[in-house]
Amino acid sequence: MHATTRVTPLKLALTLAFCGATMGLAPAIAQQAAPAQAAPVQAAAAPLPGDDFFGYVNADWLAKTEIPADKGSWGAGSALGDETNARIVKLIEETAARNPAGDARRVTDFYRAFMDEAAIEAAGTASLMPELKKIDAIKDKEALVHALGASLRADVDPLNATNFYTENIFGMWFAQGLNDPHHYVPYILQGGLGMPDRAFYLDDTPRMGQLRTAYQAHIAAMMKLAGYSEPETRAARVFELEKKIAQSHGSREDSADIQKANNLWTMKDFSAKAPGMDWKAFFRAAGLGKQGKFMVYHPSAITGAAALVNEMPLQAWKDFLAFHTVNHFGNSLPKAFVDQRFEFYGRTMNGTPQLSPRWKRGLSAVNNAVPDAAGKMYVERYFPAEAKTRLQAMVTNIVAAFHKRVEKLDWMAPATKKEAQEKLRTLYVGVGYPDKWTSYEGLEIKPNDAMGNMLRAEKFHYRQQLAKLGKKVDPTEWCMPPHVVNAVNMPMQNALNFPAAILQPPFFDMKASDAHNYGAIGSVIGHEISHSFDDQGAQFDSKGRLRDWWTKEDGEHFKKGAAALVAQYDAYQAFPDLKLNGTLTLSENLADLAGLAAALDAFNAASGGKASPEQERAFFAGFASSWANKSRDASLRNQIATDGHSPAKWRTYTVRNLDDWYKAYDVKPGQKLYLAPEQRVRVW
Ligand SMILES: [Zn+2]
Repeated sequence: MHATTRVTPLKLALTLAFCGATMGLAPAIAQQAAPAQAAPVQAAAAPLPGDDFFGYVNADWLAKTEIPADKGSWGAGSALGDETNARIVKLIEETAARNPAGDARRVTDFYRAFMDEAAIEAAGTASLMPELKKIDAIKDKEALVHALGASLRADVDPLNATNFYTENIFGMWFAQGLNDPHHYVPYILQGGLGMPDRAFYLDDTPRMGQLRTAYQAHIAAMMKLAGYSEPETRAARVFELEKKIAQSHGSREDSADIQKANNLWTMKDFSAKAPGMDWKAFFRAAGLGKQGKFMVYHPSAITGAAALVNEMPLQAWKDFLAFHTVNHFGNSLPKAFVDQRFEFYGRTMNGTPQLSPRWKRGLSAVNNAVPDAAGKMYVERYFPAEAKTRLQAMVTNIVAAFHKRVEKLDWMAPATKKEAQEKLRTLYVGVGYPDKWTSYEGLEIKPNDAMGNMLRAEKFHYRQQLAKLGKKVDPTEWCMPPHVVNAVNMPMQNALNFPAAILQPPFFDMKASDAHNYGAIGSVIGHEISHSFDDQGAQFDSKGRLRDWWTKEDGEHFKKGAAALVAQYDAYQAFPDLKLNGTLTLSENLADLAGLAAALDAFNAASGGKASPEQERAFFAGFASSWANKSRDASLRNQIATDGHSPAKWRTYTVRNLDDWYKAYDVKPGQKLYLAPEQRVRVW
């Protein structure tokens, strides 16, 4: 939930953060390369805390940090991500030298196979050919339906990771039901497009028109590389089919609206509501022949695709399957395939000037294939048990602070309060790594078969997800690996994940004081908890059932407090001609405010009632230093236009709504951040 805007959902293997950047640590838009520029000369004197708290706390960092030439912005969080990636690759290389067994061996062999470019060149399309031959052998619609069913993978996650994209005909997700938290159910989502979403096929703008032409050329180029005759004719057929698929797709806004996704279909519903193909045969091929109920996330797309199976010529579908097989595995194939993919998805679509180094792509492939195995290696080396113990104590204290805050709210109805308390009581907070590691026992990884490894890993993952059906729902299941710098609120599971990688400086430091840590990671923990109670979180009750448990009056009171915060952020002037958008960033600003206030309560309670002024300063400085950041102007403007999170500097100004901050820094009327007590926003 609350992910930042995704530039493209395509797995370009350029970034590690495949879960929605819930904390907004590294806005995707800011990762686009921008031309290098000289660092501005810094003024020598730091500002007063009451005038610019961000500049005051981060004066040193700002003076000595330059944005890397290939980045649009750079902050403490992005540096941590880069360092963590470099560390884990070094760890993989060291482990490989020790000739490991089991899952560690799977990690090292997977990485080795991906990195061995000479072997990949020599093998050519050997691993690809058996897949393409199966497609060539399709003789009728019956065989086509079987092939489409067999192509399904567990490759999307609409709620936690907010990943809606798959180039398979449909995406699958296995989770508890929206109305039935006690049973797992398969979710079926729209898919089948090689460009990010319907707008790319249907919007009548010059930019989209150019992309459509370039995409069709890309299809032809990939088909040609794979050895197909008449690649242009095939590309035209694939494009026409995808355009028709796109017409049945929901928009991005539709995908984000969980109420529109709440459609429980039986097998009979599929035949009645989506005629055109043999659904029983389709689901049998997908290993779901015995499944009685499905959550249909995008009903119009399911209906649309079934009709197209009936209407469109067999050859169009065969070309579609062949192209998407080549395209999907392109990054594990010889250089010509990799370069062609980058030419379209990197350079043309995103303006990225340079393909990322092979080791980064290799690590990203490892993270997709065997995330827990790599995460386990990372945790064993870099996440000490003492860190977990100390953080768990912080989590307990912060949850207790929320309990007290909810109890004290004068505007919330007693029944709503009761459910909120129950939601806090049953909240699962995962710290560092999952309670149970996923085992990859039985997954065959070869040191010399990059594409085959990827294919086998995807099938293995799908079978693991299928096996969840009929089992007891596990609210402690994680949705991101431990070595990714991020944090997530999973509304249906009523759970939070704080991966080990974010539990490092500047967010958490074993050597730092509690005051610092509560200000930095404590405010992040509070931020994620508060999402359970905002406009999105309030749609799910303590069991994770989709049910609005707020009264109308609760909602109105909440909105009134929220309006004051909207006005506060609307007034921030980022450029002479551009202010922040307080409405767009409201949910995240509320979470920042609630999170910081609860973290301070928790710190006060933990330090025996009331922190000293010195401790309070360490707390607030810990908070603001974790948001140290520099942005190029173009990148900052993009972020303000599209990102649900406020830019880092203004996130740190949250402090001006807390009375303790004024006392800690002796902030006086007339200073730029000063707010009279009645102007300070208190929602929670
Ligand atoms: Zn958030």
